[in-house]
Order: sequence, then C-alpha cells, then structure tokens
Amino acid sequence: MSQEPERQEMSQEVPEHCPGVSSEKAGKSSACQGCPNQNICASGQANQPDPDIELIKDHLKTVKNKILILSGKGGVGKSTVCGQISYALAAHYESENKQIGVLDIDICGPSLPQVFGVQGEQIHQSGSGWSPIFVDENLSLMSIGFLLPSLEDAVIWRGPKKNGLIKQFLRDVDWEELEYLLVDTPPGTSDEHLSIVQYLKPAGLTGAIIVTTPQEVSLLDVRKEITFCKKVGVPIIGVVENMSGFACPKCKVESQIFPPSTGGAEKMCEEMDVNFLGRIPIDPQIGQCCDEGKSFIKEFPNSPATQAYNGIISRIHKFVATSQ
Ligand code: SF4
Repeated sequence: MSQEPERQEMSQEVPEHCPGVSSEKAGKSSACQGCPNQNICASGQANQPDPDIELIKDHLKTVKNKILILSGKGGVGKSTVCGQISYALAAHYESENKQIGVLDIDICGPSLPQVFGVQGEQIHQSGSGWSPIFVDENLSLMSIGFLLPSLEDAVIWRGPKKNGLIKQFLRDVDWEELEYLLVDTPPGTSDEHLSIVQYLKPAGLTGAIIVTTPQEVSLLDVRKEITFCKKVGVPIIGVVENMSGFACPKCKVESQIFPPSTGGAEKMCEEMDVNFLGRIPIDPQIGQCCDEGKSFIKEFPNSPATQAYNGIISRIHKFVATSQ
C-alpha cells in the first residue's frame, strides 16, 4: 500500500526578505540562502494545499457567520468600531443567549483586550483547545495581545511565524457555538490577510466590513482594500465611515471637523458598487468607553453614535439574511 510522504513542518524563523512560500522564487532566491525551509520551499512542498484548511473548516462549523474587519490604513478606529459592533451584536442576541466571538489578529497593535477591559488576562488551555476570555455572558475574545509579553515583540515576527499563529488561532480556539465571529485584522493588505482568507474561505466566510474615515487619503487605501476583496473573492458587507463629524455629547448637534473632500465613503461606495453601512460621528465618550473597557451603546443609549451603530447592525443583519 503506498503511503503519502509525511508533510514536513515549516520553521517559523525565516530571513527578513523571504519572497513568500508560494512565490516562484521560493527556496531559490538569494534571501533563501541559509533558511531552514529552503529544501521544503525548493521542492514545492510548501506550496501544496495545507491540510490544516480542512481542520479549520471542521473546527469552525459551529460558527454561523464569520466576518473580517478591515481598514485601508491605521488610525481610522478599526478596533474601536470592531469592539463596539461586537458589543452591539452581543446586546442584540443577549435575550436569546446567542454567542458572539471576537478574534484579534492585529499583530501591529492588538488593542481589543483594552477595548474590552480584559488586558493582562491569561489564556487557558484545555483538552478542547484554547479558551477565549469572556467579556460578557455572550461575548468572548481571543487576542494576539494575550500572548505578547510586550507590543514590541509583534514587529519582529515575520511571515510564516505570523501565519502559523493565525492558523493556530483558527484551528485551536474553543469557541463552541457562535452566531458571529468577528476577526479584527491588521491595517492594509498583507500576508496575514491572504492567510486568513485562504483558511476562512473554505470554512464559509460571510464577508468583510471595511472601516475608513471621510478624508480622501483614507479612501484611497479603502479602494485598494475593496479591490483586494474582489480579487480574492471575499464578499463586501459594506463600508463604515468612522470619525464622521463631531457629535456634541451635551447638545447632540453634529459639526464637520474633517470635511469629506471628495464626497466621503458613501459617494465612493456608490462609485465602486458596494454597500455603505453608515457613518459614526466623533464622540469623546466612545474613546473614554474604549479606554475603560465599556460598551458605549450600553453606557450612552441615546447618543447619535449609538443610533449610528444600531443602524450599522441592522444593515449587517440585512446583508447576512440575504446572503444565506
Ligand atoms: S521560507 Fe522559503 S521562500 Fe521564505 S526565505 Fe525560507 S526558503 Fe525562501
């Protein structure tokens, strides 16, 4: 009986200028000299379908909706929006006791432990995998931030090491049954995005939410993000315009602080034929809630920003209902 040759494990310690294991130059480029993976890459084995894709598919079959949170660039409030959307979804499903999970793979700055007020928590491992940290009865978080002794450690990680951790998170976190899993990714489009799409698409990726600010400098990068999603076949749930005008916490009047020079995200969405999910005004209380690990929509139910979040949640539900 013939036996499949055993797949060799890739080392995660690779040279800085690794051309990428799926590139034509894998194992052959000058950067590959001395890399512990050179034989595997040169033989093409590293470019074979990864058996973990099937394991992840099986592991995540109890997760109903899987959503990526993307942003074209840093500093647009992606993790804040991810955190508050998660709180809003958890509040929506609280009475039905349906669970919401959040996976933070933003290796550039995993800030969700702070947004959820659980920084410094220790991850526990059991026979069925890594247990996420519960933020609320029906809201749990797994973050790269729980594994880093300090944020500086993130920047020295290179492709395969980061991708190995992402794979481990998708394969080993014991979510049990989830209504939604939101995955907070690093800004831009990088190796991590390609990996997560490669692993999640076969498991049924519901789609992506892209976060931006109204200025053209952000929208330029969002256009690239939309093109990336279309190229890799990820459905776009829609675009959220964050920091869109200032909502005075006292009088509730909104004023434009950063006027959208080219019409803002809504116009861009029309031009690129994608859904516009809504605009969230700047409200200093949102930042305060994130610093204190609180749910903004619970603390300030009558604020214009809460209404904006609720509108976004109903548009997400509408997308999910029509895509099933
Ligand atoms: S992992 Fe493969 S492609 Fe990357 S440097 Fe090593 S041998 Fe080259």
